[in-house]
Amino acid sequence: MIQGRCPICAKPFEVERIDDLPTFPFCSERCRLVDLGRWIDQAYAIPGTPADVEPGGAAGPAPGVDEGDAD
Ligand SMILES: [Zn+2]
Repeated sequence: MIQGRCPICAKPFEVERIDDLPTFPFCSERCRLVDLGRWIDQAYAIPGTPADVEPGGAAGPAPGVDEGDAD
């Protein structure tokens, strides 16, 4: 008898053999995919991303920069 708790949704499970739970240590395929997705997110985050990169860009040229006389 194998007892455990899904690390994703914290749902307890109990199976006779490990073969009875192909998604071990997760309770279901859905939770297994959730964990996989988290790993992928981390993999994307690993390359040293500069800390000053801000989505939405506060930095940069302000709108309405004087382009001179358009004539
Ligand atoms: Zn789960």
